[in-house]
Amino acid sequence: MRPAHIYVHVPFCARRCVYCDFSIVVRRAVPVDEFVAAVASELDLRFPRREDVAARTLYLGGGTPSRLGAEGVARLVHEVRQRLPLADGAEITVEANPEDISADVVRAWRLAGVNRLSLGSQSFDDDVLAWMHRTHDAAAIPRAVETARKGGIDNLSLDLIFAVPERPIGSWERDVTRALELEPSHVSLYGLTIEPHTVLGRRQKRGEMHESPEDMYEHEFLYAHDVLSEAGFEHYEVSNFAREGTRSRHNSAYWSGARYAGLGPSAHEFDGAVRRWNRSAYGDWLSAVQSGADPIEGQEQLSAENRLAEEVYLGLRTVDGLSVSEEELTRIGRWAAAGWATVDSRRYVRLTARGWLRLDALAADLTLFRSRY
Ligand code: SF4
Repeated sequence: MRPAHIYVHVPFCARRCVYCDFSIVVRRAVPVDEFVAAVASELDLRFPRREDVAARTLYLGGGTPSRLGAEGVARLVHEVRQRLPLADGAEITVEANPEDISADVVRAWRLAGVNRLSLGSQSFDDDVLAWMHRTHDAAAIPRAVETARKGGIDNLSLDLIFAVPERPIGSWERDVTRALELEPSHVSLYGLTIEPHTVLGRRQKRGEMHESPEDMYEHEFLYAHDVLSEAGFEHYEVSNFAREGTRSRHNSAYWSGARYAGLGPSAHEFDGAVRRWNRSAYGDWLSAVQSGADPIEGQEQLSAENRLAEEVYLGLRTVDGLSVSEEELTRIGRWAAAGWATVDSRRYVRLTARGWLRLDALAADLTLFRSRY
């Protein structure tokens, strides 16, 4: 396979956030040499021929890739480039926690070609950050933004988490305002849901807390939609907002069904027909690649049914929309009447922000309808 997009999962975190059920490794000292060498081995093993098609995006996600530090990220990007060439102007994103950003780090990353940062800011409220068990305080976010800009990386995305239970009144609205004041090019929103195998899941099971009520979830999502849209951001995907020309090219590739390579523990990969994923435990992935074995944990060939469901879901989650048939229009008519969707003259349906609050249900409804034709 010749991947146009490359994802590397960097699993290290300083500690675990209360809502997180990702495949991560909490280490005080990050084994940078071991990890970078292991990714290089996985690349050699799985992409032995230097591919002649240059990839258009590289995304270091996690975990917390910024925990690799200045040199660790630079070396990782270099190892990838040696084996899978990157196109001129390729989008190279690093997910970073604000406290890991310094002038030296930005300089090294920029020299390595990094041109986009996704900052895990999550909130500008110190109490909320402490409750989440984040490692940074609110003041670290503007510091990181300023340092990144001064160092020449100005394509900056901020993550924010909404629907945090029992937060003070007005705190979410202040988060959105503070994020806007920093003039990011991109904002990603995540609604907090409680997964069973997390600190919050255990608290919920003991009856100590509950998920936010649905009306609060809806209010905060729609509030962010209104304010960010008013400020000139395009709400281009259910969870993502961008200024003109700054949509995430990497994530947009996922949503358009493009091929991508996935390296590192738990990373997923798609070659256009088969989806595969790596062993998720760091030790399992590491021992496989160190012994020269493919670290694959599983794979699935997409069935016609899967493809249909995916086409509908991907089409509805972005503002680019989904082409629908005459028959389907009768179905969509009800969505439009409810304010959940619009349909243009070329029969493209696009969900509104209110529609995106019902994305799963609407996609399932249309998939079922479409599967009967
Ligand atoms: S920083 Fe991200 S990956 Fe790490 S524990 Fe927190 S939410 Fe999970």
